[in-house]
Amino acid sequence: MEQLDLEPFAPDTGSEWQRGSGLPLGTLARVQVYSSDAFGAYQGRAHSPGCTHRRPENGVYHDDDLVSLERLIGNDSFDPCSKCGGYAVRRLSEDQVAYYRAAHRLHDLAQKVPFAVRRGDAERTELEAKLREFTDMDRQTTDAWFPEREESRQWSRFVNHLLSALRSPGTA
Ligand SMILES: [Zn+2]
Repeated sequence: MEQLDLEPFAPDTGSEWQRGSGLPLGTLARVQVYSSDAFGAYQGRAHSPGCTHRRPENGVYHDDDLVSLERLIGNDSFDPCSKCGGYAVRRLSEDQVAYYRAAHRLHDLAQKVPFAVRRGDAERTELEAKLREFTDMDRQTTDAWFPEREESRQWSRFVNHLLSALRSPGTA
């Protein structure tokens, strides 16, 4: 996995058609990434090691930055190449892959809530059942996904908000 799709973790902009879910980065905050210029220290855009736009040639350089994903995206001076996204993921642990997939599933379900509310009971019930996967999580999973307790609460609040929107149409 060279690049991550970070939409589930982007802020909710309030637009119905395209918005993030504002989910916590959780264990993904510690994912290590390579970038030619994670902090905007040099002229030109930041590239991933394999990008063909990179000069003089691609591959990981000894002076490439190796930083956490959290530091990279929390940094305003990071100026990524539009072709490669500016970084490449070094590797993901099993927990990080599991959380990445779960966050994408939850984000997709969240996008469906306003439509399910309009369509009726059958859709609402089906969606509610799918969301249960994310409320009945065991302690081991929660600890692996969310190093910070507040992130776990943020996740629960998000799921509960979706569930209550489904139960009381008109508030979604
Ligand atoms: Zn590039």
